[in-house]
Amino acid sequence: MPKKNPVIEIKMEWCKGCAFCVEFCPKEVLQMKGIYPVVAKIEDCTACGLCEVLCPDFAIEVIAEDEAVKK
Ligand code: SF4
Ligand code: SF4
Repeated sequence: MPKKNPVIEIKMEWCKGCAFCVEFCPKEVLQMKGIYPVVAKIEDCTACGLCEVLCPDFAIEVIAEDEAVKK
């Protein structure tokens, strides 16, 4: 069965563009596009949750593969 990628949700209305999530992602999954982060390489995401934990504004949510399947 093909691997299912996690889902990353970024709430633009809460994001202030600090780029912490981009700088600290160990897999370089996120990139800044203008003042907001975007998901650039979801296939590399390990759903470690670091971006979610580091975001000071609770603007990013990581939904792991198994949770995403349930939805
Ligand atoms: S969950 Fe981990 S690997 Fe995935 S985008 Fe966030 S920091 Fe990067
Ligand atoms: S850490 Fe949070 S507030 Fe900062 S750029 Fe990422 S999503 Fe936006």
